[in-house]
This record gives sequence, C-alpha cells and structure tokens, in this order.
Amino acid sequence: MSVARLFVTRARPFDSARGRLGPMSTIVIEGERIVEVTPEPREPGPDDRVIDAGGRVVTPGLIDAHVHVMAVTHDVWRLSAQPPSLITAQTKPILEAMLHRGFTTVRDAGGADFGLQEAVRRGLFEGPRLYIAAHPLTQTGGHADSRPQGVQEMVCSCAGLGLVGAIADGDAEVRRAVREQIRNGANQIKIMAGGGVASPTDPIDGTQYSLAELAAICEEADAANTYVMAHAYSPRSISRAVRAGVRTIEHGNLLDEASAEAMNEESAFLVPTLATYAALGDEGARLGWSAAMLAKLERVQHRGVQAIAIAKAEGVPIVFGTDLLGHMHGRQMEEFALRLPVQTPAEILQSATAVAAQVLRAEGQIGTLQPGALADLLIVEGDPTQSIDMWRDPAQGIRLVMQGGRVVRGAGAAGN
Ligand SMILES: [Zn+2]
Repeated sequence: MSVARLFVTRARPFDSARGRLGPMSTIVIEGERIVEVTPEPREPGPDDRVIDAGGRVVTPGLIDAHVHVMAVTHDVWRLSAQPPSLITAQTKPILEAMLHRGFTTVRDAGGADFGLQEAVRRGLFEGPRLYIAAHPLTQTGGHADSRPQGVQEMVCSCAGLGLVGAIADGDAEVRRAVREQIRNGANQIKIMAGGGVASPTDPIDGTQYSLAELAAICEEADAANTYVMAHAYSPRSISRAVRAGVRTIEHGNLLDEASAEAMNEESAFLVPTLATYAALGDEGARLGWSAAMLAKLERVQHRGVQAIAIAKAEGVPIVFGTDLLGHMHGRQMEEFALRLPVQTPAEILQSATAVAAQVLRAEGQIGTLQPGALADLLIVEGDPTQSIDMWRDPAQGIRLVMQGGRVVRGAGAAGN
C-alpha cells in the first residue's frame, strides 16, 4: 500500500541557506516530512492531494528565537499572582496567533514549561513547536529576581510557570539550578547576564554573575548537551558571557566593535529583539512603567539597529527574535520592518529560518525546504527576497501555513 502524499505544485521555493529563490518546483510531502523538492514534472497518484501554489513563493515556516508565550500580560512581575491554570488558558490564543502569523517553531526564553510543550505536541493547543528554557537563572537582585525591594522571602515559583527567575548564587546553587531546568525538560538554559529594562533596581549597563558562575552554568548546560542563552546589553556583559561559553546573546543593544569581535571569536549568535522596544516605547508610559524603567528603555531602544549593523560587519550571525509581552504579541511582524535599515529582506528571512534553525541545533529539520525536513512551509504573496510586504499583514500576505505536513490555514485560498 502506498502512502498518500501531498504535492505542492508550481512553487518557487526560498533557499534559506543561500537567501534566494529556486526554480519553479514541486514539493512532495509524505506524512510530516518533505521527501522531494524538484523542478522536474511529477505526477501525483490517485490518492495524493495537490495544493497549487500558483507560481507563488514558498518559504520555510518562520522561527522566532526569543518569545515568552506565557507572558500573558505585560505586567510579568505580577504573573505569579494568577493560578497556573489561568495563565495556561491565556497562552492558547497567543500560541494560535503566532502559528497563524507563520511561526511554526519558537524558542521560549523563559516561562513555558514541559506541560505546555506537550500540550502543543499532542495537538491540545494549536501553536508553534516549542523549545523551552523553563525558569531563567538570575543572581540575587538580577533581572529575573522579581521580589520587591525590602522583601526577603522568595515568591513561590513552585508551579513551574512564569518568568519568575530561579534565584541562584555561587557555584553549587547555579549548578543545581541548571540541573533543575534540565530535569524539567529545558531545551536550552536562559540566564540573566546583565541589567534589564523591566526590572527596576538593576543598572542596565551592569554585569550579572561572576565569571566563575557563568563558566559553571555553561559547563552544566554542555554536560546535558545543551547551551546557554544570555540576556545582556552592555559590551562588558556580552564579552564576559561569550568568553565563559554562552552561545547566544539576547537583545545585545549596546554591542560595540570589541564585544562583536569577542562574539565572532567564540562563534556566538546575536538575537536582537527590536519589536519589544518599539512596542514599549509606544505604550510603556500608558502601561504605568516608572520613569526609571522608561529611561532605561530610551537608552537601549535606539541602539538596537546599530547593534545589528555592528554584528553584521563583524560577521556575527543574526537571529530573528521579538520578546513581546501580553497584548503586544500582536506586533510580532513589526520586527521585519524594524530591521530593514540594516538587513535586506532576504537576510531577515534567513535570520528567521536557516540561522534560527542553527541556534536550535535543528539544521536540516526546520527552517529549510529540503528532503528530510519537517514540512513546515508558507505560501506567500510577492517576493520575500525583494520586499517584506507579505509579512506586514500575514492574514493577507501569507496564503497558506503548513506545520509538519498539516495545513493550519488557507488550503482553499491557495487553490485545491
Ligand atoms: Zn525575553
């Protein structure tokens, strides 16, 4: 008995490794995987399904390498006041909307746990494939230490949810904290290696964690065959982190030539998240952010584009990320336009496909249209190597979203 196949015909595939379009092709899918991409004519059998792309461009499903799907409110520091069941229920529309915008895989930078990952895997929740970090590690008083000043006791983070950091100081504690995240299914370890915008008491250009602690964290992650992603803004915190073995720098807004050189030497990736600064710049004051927090935001927001330019000049791989919170998740596609001053449309799409897949150590599996890869693909309007217009309004610009061989939306609209 032959397996029913799915043929996507008259497709111009985006070659994510080279950043250009391939010839008019047929993409043959069996089950959840692509088995062939060929310009040669292929005859579907009587049991096979056909989707006619109509000569449109087909891209791999998008990957956002910095999200917080459990940041269901912008007020993440008070998230732990909500019961875990309610937080989980609120992630449902966030996950669905991301998938419908074309993100078939995302890397969660703190908050999502293995239960949510499993819910998506089983199809209980429709959403992007999740790579989770569980709880981010923070030093006492660091960016993810959510205790108000003067409060001694720990906020209970026993429910396993939320952006509440795992507070860990010193060799033994940081090692135990990494091992706990691994035990709870973390695909990567998230740490706070410098000050943050949304935390009221730590300076944005400060460093967090000692070199010995950073090295211990990286050693434990490596021992479990994974890696460390670090929140860092200042050149000093970036350089220290990558020298200690951190693999991806998150945000990185204050990057300079020397720290970019350190990143290059250590083969680190930069994951800028311009969308969240733009969103908070527009809405922070209305959302009740303090003057101190808004001043920190102001300081990093306008350096974000420059950081990408410096990284690009140095040859540091640049990855797509957004870092949005609460209702601002709706602004995820703005990241494309915000990067246009320093990246070409093709480069931005590579950041959200091939380069992001490298970060997830899933090359050949996602972010690419090649035999053996998961059939995550989008049929889009226009040419994404020349313009970002199709990403501005994905309901119109993306005709079809497929994840693991399953059409999520738009089969009718794209023909068939
Ligand atoms: Zn984040």
